[in-house]
Amino acid sequence: MVLNNLKDREFDFHNLAPIRVGDGAYTSFWHDNWHGNNSLSISFLRVFALDMNKSANVRDRFFMGWNIDVHRRMPRGGNEESQWLSFLEVVEGVQLQQVPDRLGWMLDSSDSFFVSSIRIALDSALVPSDDKGSRWNNWVPIKLNILLWRVQLFCIPTRQRLSNRGVMVPYITCPICMVAIKTIEHLFAGCCDLRDIWGRVAIWWGVSLPSHISVQSLINWSDGVNLRRGQRKAFDAVIITSF
Ligand SMILES: [Zn+2]
Repeated sequence: MVLNNLKDREFDFHNLAPIRVGDGAYTSFWHDNWHGNNSLSISFLRVFALDMNKSANVRDRFFMGWNIDVHRRMPRGGNEESQWLSFLEVVEGVQLQQVPDRLGWMLDSSDSFFVSSIRIALDSALVPSDDKGSRWNNWVPIKLNILLWRVQLFCIPTRQRLSNRGVMVPYITCPICMVAIKTIEHLFAGCCDLRDIWGRVAIWWGVSLPSHISVQSLINWSDGVNLRRGQRKAFDAVIITSF
């Protein structure tokens, strides 16, 4: 399930760990992807249809050979014949070895799996990067800075996100206004019953509200207000605390 989820996010683990055939005992000749980009049953569909040993492993299938007695019949010319000749070229180029089959690892030149290499690949593929760096205000507790960072990355387990991941939640609407779906944008910026908070903060500090209230405009609100440096940091702390 995890590998399928990664594949949905265009991270195909199987492509990174191709089968390296040794003695062929643990690899399905037709169905495993051990030569080229597809299994042989897909690359040589017509030859596969003629073969009578569709579940054989690589070692046994090579041992049987390619004569008429292991096929329903021999190829009859045309596409079937040309596919057959290409197939023979492939199998005649394969040398089995006296070592067990294993999985290779494309992310390391040693062809061996390392946790560090998959961690780096997963980080660069899945973790959002932002050249601007994280905002950090040391006048508020660390956990609030972390909350802000997670809000900015849209990594809060809202009811909608839990539901999308298959967690049973009684409802996914906002528990405050009971109208909109509880997204991060709605929860921290869009909910009409909570917007009043931001209006009051603006009145309190004598500043204008952002022209469009969104999570990002609220996080950056203190950058654009006309306050002295220390005041701006205090105002930023108020915003973070309000989140
Ligand atoms: Zn709401």
